[in-house]
Amino acid sequence: MHQHDAETEVLTQAIVRYAVDRVRLDPPPLDGPRTLVDLQAMAGSTITERGLGGLEALRIFGDVLAQACISVDHPRFLSFVPAAPTEAAILFDLVVGASSIYGGSWMEGGGAVYAENQALRYLADLAGLPAAAGGVFVTGGTAGNLSALIAARYRWRQRAGGSHDTTRGLIIASKGAHSSVASAARAMDADVINAAADDQGRLRIDALRALVDGLSNPDRTRVFAVVATSGTTNAGVIDPLAGAADVAGELGAWFHVDGAYGGAGLAAPSVRARYVGIERADSLIIDPHKWLFAPFDCCALLYRDPSAAREAHTQHAEYLDVLHEEDDDWNPSDFAHHLTRRARGLPFWFSLATHGTLAYRNAVEQTLTVTRAAARLIDDAAHLDLIMEPELSVLLVRRVGWGPAQYRAWSDKLLADGVAFVVPTAWAGEMVLRLCVVNPLTTLDDIRLIVDSLRS
Ligand SMILES: *Cc1c(COP(=O)(O)O)cnc(C)c1O
Repeated sequence: MHQHDAETEVLTQAIVRYAVDRVRLDPPPLDGPRTLVDLQAMAGSTITERGLGGLEALRIFGDVLAQACISVDHPRFLSFVPAAPTEAAILFDLVVGASSIYGGSWMEGGGAVYAENQALRYLADLAGLPAAAGGVFVTGGTAGNLSALIAARYRWRQRAGGSHDTTRGLIIASKGAHSSVASAARAMDADVINAAADDQGRLRIDALRALVDGLSNPDRTRVFAVVATSGTTNAGVIDPLAGAADVAGELGAWFHVDGAYGGAGLAAPSVRARYVGIERADSLIIDPHKWLFAPFDCCALLYRDPSAAREAHTQHAEYLDVLHEEDDDWNPSDFAHHLTRRARGLPFWFSLATHGTLAYRNAVEQTLTVTRAAARLIDDAAHLDLIMEPELSVLLVRRVGWGPAQYRAWSDKLLADGVAFVVPTAWAGEMVLRLCVVNPLTTLDDIRLIVDSLRS
């Protein structure tokens, strides 16, 4: 299995050809899920005592399994938050895999960590974080929020000098915060209270202040973090970050900004001013696998003062201490809840290094331009209501006269026909459609096709 012989060479050619052909598809087929029963019939049992052989396993993947997965990079995949990795990033992912890099420590992966840190620096500069800021690429926003909040709680307990070691911590977030904030709190056995949002889902600073004023004195000392969102998932709106930073500062709490989806908009001059206050974050996450054209899985987790995070997260053991003998070494393992890690920031770094930051600025602007033009198209369509002007690249749309059954049937048919993948969401208790544009290849014609399909 480990030698490179004639058979491996044939397989190498086949695998590389497969990968390159997939990258070249423009657009790729949308594809769609199959039932378990269908997959059992089509793919059968693939793990056998003697093995299927690589060519057969690859055939099953290409003919059956891959086709049972929706292509997230299709320009009309507009559900959830899609992905649109660049060709350079995708192909370099193959190189990362081939290079057997341990990305957890400088001793083992210094070259990779150096490059990853330059990519992190690009994001820190976009946000205006100080020179000392730094962090690590983790799997996703969920892992990033959890790791940041663990660091926040650690600092709170440390500053309390032992008096909060068994106190249950409290996180203040907004009604519009992502579900992963509540999930992190559950994992940490902490509490979350949500301040009210405005009618577009944006944190209301007056409500945040009222909530803080209403806390009992003991509860106020339990607050270890204030979380704001720079680009809510459902509506793509940015919380008033400066106001949230003020309140966090008054409480002496950690200010965490969740920019998993929307942080990418920092690269776009047309919306950059909306992020004022983000430079005051104690921690910030941005998922390049969402709107910065990297393949899964890639979340940038940045800390203003990485030393607090390092103390919170570093694992100590006899077999690890050798990694910490050089005090200046940057060990990515020490900055999140993980140890072994893939150097998952490298595909993003390679694409940034290849294309330069202007190409990123233009690509993010391109998606914003299409979103704004799409908003006009929807606004002008008699059968549709635009629920709010898009602040970033999410559109919420009502089909006049439709209820849940019609939305679901339309969405299912669109996917079954291979046209587009658009699922409904809930807005103010009502089922509506949500389109999220992160793919620079998505055109106004793509949106027009969807708008027209909503007529009948
Ligand atoms: C997507 C998202 C997350 C979670 O990120 P994953 O990478 O899916 O774990 C967190 N916060 C916001 C605002 C998001 O949009």
